[in-house]
Amino acid sequence: ATAETPAPLSFAESARRIRDNAAVIAGGVNSNFRMNIAPTPLVFERADGPYLFDVDGNRLIDYYLGMGPMILGHRPQGVVDAVSAAMERGILFGGQSDLETEAARLVCEFVPCAERIRFASSGSEADQAAIRLARAATGRRVVLKFEGHYHGWFDNVLWSTAPPPDAAGPADHPVPVSGSRGQLGEAAYGIEVLPWNDLALVEARLAQGDVAAVIMEATMCNAGAIRPADGYLEGVRAACSAAGTVLIFDEVITGFRLGAGGAQGHFGVTPDLATFGKAIANGFPVAAVAGRADILDLVATGGVVHGGTYNAQLLSMAATVATLRALTPDLYAGIERAGARLMEGMRARFEAAGVRAVVTGYPAIFHVAFGLDAPARNYRDLARSDKKAYVAFTTALLERGVRALERGAWFLSSTHDDAVIDATLDAVEDAARVLRA
Ligand code: PLP
Repeated sequence: ATAETPAPLSFAESARRIRDNAAVIAGGVNSNFRMNIAPTPLVFERADGPYLFDVDGNRLIDYYLGMGPMILGHRPQGVVDAVSAAMERGILFGGQSDLETEAARLVCEFVPCAERIRFASSGSEADQAAIRLARAATGRRVVLKFEGHYHGWFDNVLWSTAPPPDAAGPADHPVPVSGSRGQLGEAAYGIEVLPWNDLALVEARLAQGDVAAVIMEATMCNAGAIRPADGYLEGVRAACSAAGTVLIFDEVITGFRLGAGGAQGHFGVTPDLATFGKAIANGFPVAAVAGRADILDLVATGGVVHGGTYNAQLLSMAATVATLRALTPDLYAGIERAGARLMEGMRARFEAAGVRAVVTGYPAIFHVAFGLDAPARNYRDLARSDKKAYVAFTTALLERGVRALERGAWFLSSTHDDAVIDATLDAVEDAARVLRA
C-alpha cells in the first residue's frame, strides 16, 4: 500500500446521471441487479482490458466483468475484428450462416455433454428451453431446483434464489420462496426446492420416480462460490440415471470460465443437458442449451418448440467463434495463476488486518464472505455472512479504484496481469484496514 493515502474517488457525476435517468428509465437502470449499488450505480464511458472508465473520469479495475462474460477482458481485438467483419456482411438474416455452424461445432468439441446445441439470447431463456426439453423427454412434471441457485428471472424458476431464512421452512424440506412481487404462487407448480449438497435428500426424492429434471449450478457461483461436496455430483448423476431423470447443469457462469469444458469438464461429471451464456461470447448476448442428441432433437422431431428472433444472430455468432477460438489452455493457465495469486493475497491481507473472511471458489470465479468461521456448504450457511461489512468493503475498494460485486463474486479475465493484481491487493489492504478502523 502507498504511504500516503490518496483521496477517495468521487462518483458524483454517475450519481447525478442515475437520478436524471430515473425520469425515463425505471429506477435509473435496466436490470434490478444493477440497482442498490453503494455509493451509486455507475455510468461508464468506455472499457478496455481489465479497466472501466466512468463519467467521473475514474479508471477502475473491473471484477464485475459485465457480471461474468468478459473472460478475455474488455474489447479484445480478436472479437472486435470478427464482429466488425461480420457487420460488413449483415446483421440478422432470419436464416442460417456459416458462423453459427462453426460456433456450434466448437461448443460440441469443448463441452462433454454437447452432442447437439441450440443458441438463444440469454441464460434465462436457455434454462427455459432446457426445462421444457426435460419435461417433454420424460413426460413428467416435477423439476427439482436448489436453494440459492439462480436460473434466470422467469416466473417458474425465480424461487428460493435468496430465501429469507424465516420464510424458507425447515433446512431439509425448504418451501419455495417467491423472488418477486407479481409472480403467481401457481408458477411454482411443478417446482420443488431442496438444499444443495445433501445427496441423501436428492436420492430419496428421485426414488419416487416422478421427477423430470434436476437443475443446478454444478458448483454454486451466482449466490457465492460453493464447491460440491466430494461425491455429490457423481451421486446426483447416478440417482438421475437410475430414476430416468434429466440432469441439467446450469453453466451460465461456469461454462467456458472453469475451463473450455465448463464445470462438467472440471469435475468429470457429464449432465444430460447444460445451459450456457456469459463467457461464451465475451459480452455479446449469446446463450445456449446443449446436450444429448436424443433430447435436443425433440425440437426437430418431438414437437418441442424453441424460438427466438435473435437466436444465432450474425454478430453474436462472430463474437462466439472468436471468443471460443481464443480459449486456449495457455489462456486458462494465465487466469488460473493470476486468480490464485489474488485469492492468496487477499487471504493474507484479511488475516493481517484481523478481518474474518473466507475466500472460496476458483481462480476464475471466486467469492469472498465476511463473518463466517468456515467455507459455506450451502446457501443457508452463506446467508449468515456479514453482508453489511462486505458492502462497506466493496465501497471502500471502489473509492480506491477497484470495482467488485457487492454480493461477493470476483470474476477474472485474461487481461488481469501481475500489475493489475498487485494494484488490487494494495487497494484490498487499504480497504481492509478501513474496515477494521
Ligand atoms: N443461470 C445462472 C447461473 C446465472 O448466473 C444467470 C445470470 O446471472 C442466469 C442463469 C441467467 O442468465 P441471463 O442473465 O443471461 O438471463
